[in-house]
Amino acid sequence: IEQTFSIVKPDAVGKNVIGEIYSRFEKAGLKIVGAKMIHMSEALAGEFYAEHKERPFYGELVGFMTSGPVMVQVLEGENAVALNREIMGATNPKEAAPGTIRADFATEVSANAVHGSDAPASAAREIAIFFKPEEIF
Ligand code: ATP
Ligand code: MG
Repeated sequence: IEQTFSIVKPDAVGKNVIGEIYSRFEKAGLKIVGAKMIHMSEALAGEFYAEHKERPFYGELVGFMTSGPVMVQVLEGENAVALNREIMGATNPKEAAPGTIRADFATEVSANAVHGSDAPASAAREIAIFFKPEEIF
């Protein structure tokens, strides 16, 4: 059984759709085994998005992710990483398939409702940044 790391980003928290997004995870067969609301510091967002430091949108990305509270969660299930990416939809909501989380809850690539780990190794790194082992059930 696999785990992945997920964030409900500040835009979706602001739109009051945390529950609707959690419902998408559960309906897809992903179990929420750890969850909390946090407001990321710039240092934490920088550690999390270290791979994007040289990208032109890095400043915008960190500014957005620190702009308000987020929900961080660990999702568990068969092929959790790929399954979560599938139900999230494409990075750019304008290109996301109908019925995906990003298509239904976002319109801009810079504020695209959710994050999901892109590989099992990324999931392990990301989970360790935000959760202590005893916070995952
Ligand atoms: P995430 O890592 O958030 O799950 P992703 O893996 O689909 O998304 P990445 O390429 O890892 O996409 O980009 C990380 C995040 O950076 C995206 O979710 C998006 O919010 C933001 N981003 C990506 N491209 C752009 C862009 N051209 N302009 C603004 N923000 C962008
Ligand atoms: Mg990514």
